[in-house]
Amino acid sequence: MKETNFNTKTVHFQTKEPARNASKAKPIYQTSAFVFSDLDDMESFFEGDKEYLYSRYSNPNTDDLGKGVALLEETDDGVATSSGMSAILAGVLAVAGPGDHIIASDDLYGGTYQLFAVEIPNFGIDVSFVSFQDIAVVKEAFTDKTVLLYTESVTNPLLRVEKLEEVFALAKEKGVKAMIDNTFATPYLLQPATLGADLVVHSATKYIGGHSDVTAGVLVGEQSLIDIAKSKVITLGCNLSPFEAWLACRGLKTLSVRMERQSHNAKRLADALKAHAGVERVFYPEFVSEKGNGAMVSVDLAGHINVEQFFRSLGWVKIAPTLAGVETTVSYPLRTSHRTVPDQLRKELGIGTQLVRISVGIEDENDIIEAFTQAIEKA
Ligand SMILES: *Cc1c(COP(=O)(O)O)cnc(C)c1O
Repeated sequence: MKETNFNTKTVHFQTKEPARNASKAKPIYQTSAFVFSDLDDMESFFEGDKEYLYSRYSNPNTDDLGKGVALLEETDDGVATSSGMSAILAGVLAVAGPGDHIIASDDLYGGTYQLFAVEIPNFGIDVSFVSFQDIAVVKEAFTDKTVLLYTESVTNPLLRVEKLEEVFALAKEKGVKAMIDNTFATPYLLQPATLGADLVVHSATKYIGGHSDVTAGVLVGEQSLIDIAKSKVITLGCNLSPFEAWLACRGLKTLSVRMERQSHNAKRLADALKAHAGVERVFYPEFVSEKGNGAMVSVDLAGHINVEQFFRSLGWVKIAPTLAGVETTVSYPLRTSHRTVPDQLRKELGIGTQLVRISVGIEDENDIIEAFTQAIEKA
């Protein structure tokens, strides 16, 4: 480099990739493309001998996230995407095309509802929303164009646990695919692919990342479907950036310890709130797995509780329209996640003015209980 001039030196100052011990932490491959020693070397990518060409196609950090979650979900392969939303889109487009029909649960994350109600039909795909609580209702919604059943393993914000075995049995009987949003349960508690799901999707923004510092999604499932989904992600350009993937992977390493503590704390909080006169009803799953029931607790505050005052009285608990971080946070579904869900459907689902959703963190259990009981008492 010494013999070159200033402008050249500025761009090429870095030393060559050294032959060295592997670093203990995974490096961040913050690069848009990969280099080749000659044309034969480049050809080797297209022959499948080299893994990386261009980061929109694939990158070591995003691969780690896709393959890591696939490993935990005990399925073939995965693809990391820019958000939970784009992971859902990639999964749907891997199965359905123009003229096809999807049956989706009527009790979905608000953004997913919006995707299915507004955008997916623009791809020529029809969507019916029905309750998955009664499998006979799902069965009635079939048409001869149906190709996919879509639901969440644990629903938001009322935390219903869907009877997935029935869903998978019906999908099998009818010869259609089943796709599950497993964001709330995480593979720590539940692995839908081991029960019969063809595709499993996560907002990695939530428990997989776990620290509220990354927006990411991941879709995992059987190889043939993931291969199609990967090509959709490449063409739609909804790939995840290497740094975001790296952050999500760092979060993933502590999924077990976080979920264990957070599920424990949530159970304690749910029990305490059930016994509280200022709480009309507690929504907390009876059973998700023998490892725990998850870290989300929703409550209908009693009619006499002033919700505005409750939110103002929470002390160190922050109000945030997200979930799953290590900090306990609280949200108001009516004005956030379910803002876009039509009034009538929202009423039918039971999402009213007194409903509060709590994402329980890793703090001391007694501090969490105290934070909520004192806020209810002040309201
Ligand atoms: C947050 C969330 C999504 C959307 O994920 P983003 O990462 O925000 O795009 C989808 N499903 C569920 C259950 C979620 O909680």
